[in-house]
Amino acid sequence: MIIDCHTHLNNYADETVDDLAGCLARLQTVMRRNRVDMALVLTSYKVVPGRPSTRAVVDATKDLPNIRVVAGLSWNTFSDADVAELRAMLVAGEIIALKLYPGYEPFYPADPKLAPAYQLAEEFDVPVMIHTGDTYSARGKVKYSHPINVDDAAVDYPNVKFLICHLGNPWFRDCMEVVYKNDNVYTDMSGLTLGDFSDRFEAYMRQQLKEMLLWGVNPRKVLFGTDWPLATMESYLQFVEELKLQPKDRELMLWQNAAALYKLDVQPSALGVASLLRRI
Ligand SMILES: [Zn+2]
Repeated sequence: MIIDCHTHLNNYADETVDDLAGCLARLQTVMRRNRVDMALVLTSYKVVPGRPSTRAVVDATKDLPNIRVVAGLSWNTFSDADVAELRAMLVAGEIIALKLYPGYEPFYPADPKLAPAYQLAEEFDVPVMIHTGDTYSARGKVKYSHPINVDDAAVDYPNVKFLICHLGNPWFRDCMEVVYKNDNVYTDMSGLTLGDFSDRFEAYMRQQLKEMLLWGVNPRKVLFGTDWPLATMESYLQFVEELKLQPKDRELMLWQNAAALYKLDVQPSALGVASLLRRI
């Protein structure tokens, strides 16, 4: 069983071209090829032709039992209308988490403007995923995406669960401390590379993750995610295999942690559907 907790349906090749259907078809193909049973699709903080809205992604995936949607928020344009729309989608079970993009937008996670988003997350008991670390674009401002800033939000909202995306890359130690210190903070290993890992880079990243676990980060708080299509699922599954984890920890990271954090109904019914889909 494998759950990829971090994928996108954005057309990164050309943001001026709408390619939702094509991206979704490619995602289904790579999931089948890599035996990934379920993927969480994270929508963007901006809506342009190559970056579909949460509503568009919800509608495009509503009949797919192996896809769940995480709603990306824009701090810049966050409004009462967004809160109302998110609430409706949470009530309908159309989204299972929220995602913030500090760094890409100039704000810290504990910004008071986001209080209504955290209140929704608490009310519906859904996690808030937070982009951290390097930004794909050089236009980003990385002081905002430093993982240490997640600590403020985690302390201010102790009943909300947070997920630090990308292990805080390259601020692994800061991520490690924030996850270790706060019961309500998790992290995912997505987006550590673009495309495939080079051997040297993969060894370096493996070392960082091993150190985190050795130092005392609970394996129950580390989730498998890729950041597909920016990183390939093939290279990520290889990355996990080469971590040489205890079988128990491997199962936790590959799917059990995600199933628990996002309250995913993955077995036995969804597992049956996923293995059925694999045979088609
Ligand atoms: Zn991502």
